[in-house]
Amino acid sequence: MSGLTVALAKGRLLDPSVGIFQALGYDLSEAASSRKLVIEDGTRRARFLFAKPMDVPIYVEYGAADVGIVGQDALYESGTNVYEPLVLNYGHCRLVVAGKAEYRDAEWKMLAGLRVATQYPRLAKQYFASRGLSAEIIQVYGSVELAPTVGLADLIVDVVDTGRTLKENGLIELAEILQSQAVLIVNRASHTLRAEAVRELMERVVNL
Ligand code: AMP
Repeated sequence: MSGLTVALAKGRLLDPSVGIFQALGYDLSEAASSRKLVIEDGTRRARFLFAKPMDVPIYVEYGAADVGIVGQDALYESGTNVYEPLVLNYGHCRLVVAGKAEYRDAEWKMLAGLRVATQYPRLAKQYFASRGLSAEIIQVYGSVELAPTVGLADLIVDVVDTGRTLKENGLIELAEILQSQAVLIVNRASHTLRAEAVRELMERVVNL
């Protein structure tokens, strides 16, 4: 993959993503031991950059990176125009609507003017609008489960993995919006102009 720039999402996906490239023989030892946001692998002429999950698709869409690894949740929230040719078998989670347990038997879908706190405003808006539900979407930047507890919102839209965080905050899942896992994404121009390097990388990842 000579000359490719790879954007990797920080957070939960970082360790397994770094593991993939280390298994392919790239030297990413600096990733663990420094705070550098860009690492060059001199021997293989690859460059790795590390960005927030929601930013990875943007780096790839604009060509600052040729390829990236990111969760489908962040990819679809970003609304970017990139190729998504390879689904990877890690980073599984689900984007759900959740709320206080009292909503279990309530016809929450019948309620008007619900406030929904989320880090996924685009996907939340799409979900509620496509079902004809009236909701005010409030964007927060973390600890989303806090919002219903203190009355900021009636519901949340957030990713769950084990469901433990919901449970510990007295919330229950009300609906699933999407299932997500890590995906390899490719810049549209790089897919053509660097077709050989991109194809080789994908083949090597698939054959790991
Ligand atoms: P859990 O308690 O295992 O259901 O994890 C839920 C918490 O972890 C929530 O605060 C989520 O925002 C976060 N989380 C779970 N899975 C992911 C993921 N794949 N990417 C980013 N955050 C996640």
